[in-house]
Amino acid sequence: MTLTLYKKKRKFNETPEPKAKLKRSLDEHQFVVHKHDASHLHYDLRLEMEGVLKSWAIPKGPSMNPNDKRLAIMVEDHPLDYGKFEGIIPEGNYGAGTVMIWDEGTYQAIDTKEKTENEKALLEGLQKGNLKIILKGKKLNGEFALVKMHLKKGNEWLFIKKKDEYANVKDVLNEDKSIVTKRSLEQIKTQSGKKKESIVSDKITQTNHSKKKAKMKPAY
Ligand code: MN
Repeated sequence: MTLTLYKKKRKFNETPEPKAKLKRSLDEHQFVVHKHDASHLHYDLRLEMEGVLKSWAIPKGPSMNPNDKRLAIMVEDHPLDYGKFEGIIPEGNYGAGTVMIWDEGTYQAIDTKEKTENEKALLEGLQKGNLKIILKGKKLNGEFALVKMHLKKGNEWLFIKKKDEYANVKDVLNEDKSIVTKRSLEQIKTQSGKKKESIVSDKITQTNHSKKKAKMKPAY
């Protein structure tokens, strides 16, 4: 687990995103799902493991329907503090756009109780490309599987709800407010926008050289 790539992709004098720092939760493992209105609207599932948040971009978002298999593209590890981040990533920065904390909570590997045993099972599942987890969130609950599509190469996984008492066919994405601030994407955009933009524009004039290097390829 490393935050080298996370650090490399970001300019911390421009973006309000948390700095790269390895850190573990004291108690249970955390999970978060961000709704991210970047070049393409998507959701980011983040699972705490070994001091980072393992991260997957889910273009169509999670589903509580066991018949849905949602593509989940593994992206770079994020710092644990990213789980508390909601706001704006300024233009010209990696993943520029609005970020909402869509869901959060704790999670564990299935059939494990004790913390060290839990992390061992999670890491084994990650290695095998078959993670079986129980989410305890506000929107996402119960058993889920993350299954890697190509065992040897590639970053493509599938995120699937397992059949249990929480499974249902309602579209959970209709619950579209921040679980922390109750704001819509639009409200986050207008409320956090102005303040951050003014801070950021000051910084950009100081670092014009680095602005030129910003690549505008699709970012998760
Ligand atoms: Mn993203």
